[in-house]
Amino acid sequence: MVFTKKWLPFASYGLMAEFIPAVGLESFHCDMQRGYKRVRKKESEVGALLEKDTTPQRIGLLAQQAVYEFHHHPELSTEENGIKNLVEILKLDEESYTVQQRVTQILCNYRDNPVLLDKKIIKLSHGDEGVPDGLEINSRNYLFRLFAAMDCIFKEPDGTLCILDFKTGKSDFDSRQAYIYLLAATYLYPERKTYALFYNLESCKWSEKLFATEVHLSALQTELARLAKSHELEKQLYRNEPERFSEIFVPNSGFACKYCQFNSICSFSLCEVVA
Ligand code: SF4
Repeated sequence: MVFTKKWLPFASYGLMAEFIPAVGLESFHCDMQRGYKRVRKKESEVGALLEKDTTPQRIGLLAQQAVYEFHHHPELSTEENGIKNLVEILKLDEESYTVQQRVTQILCNYRDNPVLLDKKIIKLSHGDEGVPDGLEINSRNYLFRLFAAMDCIFKEPDGTLCILDFKTGKSDFDSRQAYIYLLAATYLYPERKTYALFYNLESCKWSEKLFATEVHLSALQTELARLAKSHELEKQLYRNEPERFSEIFVPNSGFACKYCQFNSICSFSLCEVVA
C-alpha cells in the first residue's frame, strides 16, 4: 500500500457507474452527465449545479451522519427526546419537506433497529470527510489511484472484517461496489479475511454477504485500470476539441433528463425546466 499525493488517473465505483450503469438503471444512464461532472466541473454554471446536493445525495449524507451520531451517542436511541434532539443536531428543519420526511423515518428505523450496536467498529464515516486518500495501484504497469470511501468497517469475533455500506432509496444493491471495497481491502488489510455487506436504512433490508476470489479481484482491477485510461482519453479529446463535447460524451436525451442535475443547462435535455 502506498499513499502519495502525486497526480494519477483515477477510478472509483462512481466512475464505473458513470460508464456502465447498474442493472435496472440503464434508462437513467447518459454519458454526457459524466462529461459535465468530470470534465466541465470547473465551468461556473456546471460547478454551481455540482455544489448543490440532489435530494438523494442529501438524504444519503444525512442518513450517514445520523448513524454516526447514534453510534457515538447511544442514549439518543433510548431517551424520550432522542429523535427530536437528533433532528436538531442534523438541522433537518433547513432541509426540504421530502428530505425531512425521509430522514426522520430513517432515524426512527435506526432507533428501533440499531444495527451497529455491540459491533466492534474499526471505522465509521461521518459522511462529510471529503475525498479520501486514494490507493495507488499498479495494474500491468498502468498506475492509477483507486478511491473507495467506506461507510463502516467492523470486526467479527473471529477477526473477519465486514465492510458495511449504508444505502437509502429504492435502487437495488450493486455488487460491483462491494467488490471494489473488497479490492481496496486487499491493499488496506492484506492479512484479513474480508466480506462486504449492504444495509438499506429506509427499507431495513440487508444484502447477502459478498466475498471475492483473487481471480475475481484481479479481473476487477484490470477493468478499473481500463476505465481510468478511457476517462483520461476522453478528457484529452475534450481538451483538444471542446466543440466535440456531444460526440465524446454522447447524450441520451429522454427519460434520463427528468432526473439529471444538468437538465437546466444541457441543450440536449428533453425535460422542461421550470425557471
Ligand atoms: S439533460 Fe439529458 S441529455 Fe443532458 S446530460 Fe442530462 S440526461 Fe444527458
